[in-house]
Amino acid sequence: MSAQHKKFKTEVRQLLDLVVHSLYSNREIFLRELISNASDAIDRARFESLSNAAVLENDPEWDILITADPKAKTLTLTDNGVGMSQKEVEENIGTIASSGTKKFLTELKAKDGTVPPELIGQFGVGFYSAFMVADKVTLETRRAGEPGAGVRWESTGSGEYDIETVVKERRGTSITLHLKDDAGEFLEEWMIRKVVKKYSDFVEHPVRLRMIAEKDGKPEEKAPELLNSRKAIWQRPRAEIKEEEYQEFYRHVSHDFQEPLETLHWSVEGQTEFRALLYLPKTGGMDFLMPDQSKRGVHLYVKRVFITDNCEELRPSYLRFLRGVVDSADLPLNVSREILQENRLLRVIRANLVKKVLDTLSEMKEKRREAYEGFWKEFGAVLKEGLHQDPTNLEKLEDLVLCETAGGKPGALASLAEYVKLMPESQKEIYYALGENRQALANSPHLEAFRKAGCDVLFFTDPIDEWVIRDLSSYQSKTLRDITRGQVDLPAGAEPAAEEAKAAEEAKPLLVTLKEALGDRVRDVTVSKRLTESACCLVFEESAMGRQQERIYKAMNRAVPESKGALELNPGHPLIRRMEAIHQADAKHPKLAEYAELLLDQALLTAGLPVTDLLAFTRRVSQLMAEEAEGVGKA
Ligand code: ADP
Repeated sequence: MSAQHKKFKTEVRQLLDLVVHSLYSNREIFLRELISNASDAIDRARFESLSNAAVLENDPEWDILITADPKAKTLTLTDNGVGMSQKEVEENIGTIASSGTKKFLTELKAKDGTVPPELIGQFGVGFYSAFMVADKVTLETRRAGEPGAGVRWESTGSGEYDIETVVKERRGTSITLHLKDDAGEFLEEWMIRKVVKKYSDFVEHPVRLRMIAEKDGKPEEKAPELLNSRKAIWQRPRAEIKEEEYQEFYRHVSHDFQEPLETLHWSVEGQTEFRALLYLPKTGGMDFLMPDQSKRGVHLYVKRVFITDNCEELRPSYLRFLRGVVDSADLPLNVSREILQENRLLRVIRANLVKKVLDTLSEMKEKRREAYEGFWKEFGAVLKEGLHQDPTNLEKLEDLVLCETAGGKPGALASLAEYVKLMPESQKEIYYALGENRQALANSPHLEAFRKAGCDVLFFTDPIDEWVIRDLSSYQSKTLRDITRGQVDLPAGAEPAAEEAKAAEEAKPLLVTLKEALGDRVRDVTVSKRLTESACCLVFEESAMGRQQERIYKAMNRAVPESKGALELNPGHPLIRRMEAIHQADAKHPKLAEYAELLLDQALLTAGLPVTDLLAFTRRVSQLMAEEAEGVGKA
């Protein structure tokens, strides 16, 4: 192939622009990114070589070499890892595979274009960080086990690149950075040592430095020197590991620039032997928009040999925010996908891991509430999936649930146990409401009678709640009751007084007329136990489909079973009383049908549902206002 000149995709150009112009403050991290990639590439080659010896190509010593040439102003990183085919180079280096990155860039552009540094690693800009220090980058690579043509890729980072086939002897990748004038410090031995020690000390493969010096005008090569101690951090005793080392390793596995929220490092012996070093991130970042980030999950090693970076069998999906490493002493090295799926040892590890994580979370909740609430706000919605998926750990998971309540301040979170503790003795059930957000729920008329009776109500506002909270059904043998649906029983003592019961009785004939007026748009028109202030509300049956589910069904073009609300009226409300009086005088008074329409529309609106005929609604409201305005100013 002759050399080809190609353009980066637009989003890569944007990304490069950001990397070069906005991420200037911490340039030294480019070295960490490139060493990290080299180490990953070696891990992959080593794994492939377990089942295909050809990959080794008589070059079995894995290594990463940094060559610094101050005269030529180049820094070259060479690895004998898995390398890339031309297609892979174009896919990995010439484009951004993830749609999440595109979305991120668009959002960023809509803002002011400044990038929080902790985000850089999350978007696979690792390789592009080379352009922070280099004005030209040359990459040569050849796929392991495929002797023959390699690929040469070169770019100045300004929007275009050249690509051609070349002869490359050694498998793997070599990346040459032609350093910018102001990046000369990265050619100094002490600087390279410092940066490698700081960020990549635990990298398992040797990272060596070869300085090309000059003696008597001639180039003089010094023997390469080993820079890293290569100790797998998870194999070392906890007491020996410094906090910074834990943090650096976290950055290595997670590509997250922030510190982790929590570090879990433990080992197990017995039925199966393994060591694990796991982290809870502080934030989810854009993780959930980017399914391909799953490879930054829990990595599986067997006896210090990397096996796979996305071992879903190691942890349930409701713990997918975990980052880190599990190293098993008993799994076979040449484990295949099938073995992983069926493996009993892996199931034991998984059960132990789940226990450890849930126990840690529970301890955080008890002892470090603020940290736990931070975790919950980021990942609570994911953890809650466990209520549905993992019946064995249901009790532990229930205890980890936090939510806002009607009585609490906005943002204040309570656990189910805390709620139960504060329940008045007469209250037998746990009351909750599902909705879009706190404000909508707090304003909901459905809560009025509960408030008046001194009962708090749990607010569940995550989309997932509709599924998982209904699954819960009870906690500490108390039924969980959605107070916005179906029949409700108020706590003893909060039942309507005799006078209210009488009002309810008197309203009955009016209800019949209103039901006739509204026809089959409502399931029924009834007297409400829920209302103390508002005139009306709409109540769906307990079995009716939830809002989120309805949305998903509609998006999938599936039929949504029609569910109609019952219009509940407050017989003590002055409006309803007045309507009763009209009704008594003339049961067919045309105003009654008009008012029925307005009551239904109000109830729809407070339930967050669209009114059926907006024009008719506004016409009726204007009519009412006109009537009322007649009197204004006259008195
Ligand atoms: P990330 O490492 O976060 O995926 P990068 O931009 O650093 O993002 O790299 C993109 C991809 O390019 C990597 O996922 C890998 O497939 C490939 N790659 C980068 N460096 C190397 C290397 N030294 N050897 C083989 N493949 C590499």
